Amino acid sequence: MFALMHSSRIESLHLVVDPETGLKAVIAIDNCQRGPALGGCRYLAYPDEDSAIEDAIRLARNMSYKAVLAGLPQGGGKAVIMRPAHVPDRAALFEAFGRFVESLDGRYITAVDSGTSSADMDCIAQHTQHVTSTTEAGDPSAHTAMGVFAGIRTTAMARLGSDNLEGLRIAIQGLGHVGYALAEQLHAAGADLLVSDLDSGRVQLAMEQFGAHPIACEALLSTPCDILAPCGLGAVLNSKTVAQLRCAAVAGGANNQLTSLQVADQLENRGILYAPDYVINSGGLIYVALQHRGETLSTITAHLAQIGQRLTEVYAHAQAEKRSPARVADMLAEHLLNVGPRLTR
Ligand code: NAD
Repeated sequence: MFALMHSSRIESLHLVVDPETGLKAVIAIDNCQRGPALGGCRYLAYPDEDSAIEDAIRLARNMSYKAVLAGLPQGGGKAVIMRPAHVPDRAALFEAFGRFVESLDGRYITAVDSGTSSADMDCIAQHTQHVTSTTEAGDPSAHTAMGVFAGIRTTAMARLGSDNLEGLRIAIQGLGHVGYALAEQLHAAGADLLVSDLDSGRVQLAMEQFGAHPIACEALLSTPCDILAPCGLGAVLNSKTVAQLRCAAVAGGANNQLTSLQVADQLENRGILYAPDYVINSGGLIYVALQHRGETLSTITAHLAQIGQRLTEVYAHAQAEKRSPARVADMLAEHLLNVGPRLTR
């Protein structure tokens, strides 16, 4: 484990086991240079403890990059709770996690992530103030979608010469919290939507509300379109799927879209502009970070508007240096954080 911490260069790793509630959790703090580490809490079944720890470490580094490029006074961290086969009392488990967060004295602030909800955050909040996205604070997804929408306009400008989305064919993979809110904004801007989701009910709703065209899940990535917006799970872009893409740009809300930086080079070689995921989807983090600090909605909205500007800078560097935007974003973040490059993605 020390070797892993050393190679990933994370600041600290915290583990807890609470036999009474079944809690087994990891908190990885990547970097607290700019402020407390902020990052979501995952509640998922993992095959073993090592995979849970590796996931927390990998995701914590991503949060540092996301926070620094969003100009936030936060570090990066991530929590992972290993979901037990049977949970006698979910509320008690999350309360125990709240005590764990509290024991770190504010160095880590938690938030909703895969498998957790605002109701879980409410349980955590009974034992610590270092928690965001409670029922009272609200779900950040709408703000993530607002940022992705701004990023799509910037990407259209950079790749297609205009940020007018009217008539553009935009393919959205995943119509969940982020994807559906994004579809609503794109429809209002006149885009022609091609959509897929594992849940046919959500596709049906998008067809009725936005006149979206349904596409089978397995066909979406190879569907001809102007912009592909991955808004489902991560790791959708690998050497095989990138070879099948028929779009001018990829700009969507999903985390960790690339399986490796080599895939970013492949996109670049194919002339497909890629919006680095942690830059374009930082709206949710901006919302929870600033809301936790007591900022007003107008301050938060103004900060969100800078996502487009940040992407423009990344694209300009990428073009000047003939590198993929994903590599440029990593380099900018590493420069601002004064850390070496990550060893894995
Ligand atoms: P969600 O669970 O609400 O929605 C995901 C949707 O994608 C679901 O409807 C699911 O059925 C669909 N989906 C999954 N795999 C699919 C596939 N192969 N093809 C088609 N549809 C598929 O999640 P969300 O909160 O909307 O988040 C979506 C993505 O954005 C995730 O990668 C998440 O990590 C990332 N993200 C979310 C936020 C946020 O504020 N919610 C912030 C930053 C990043």
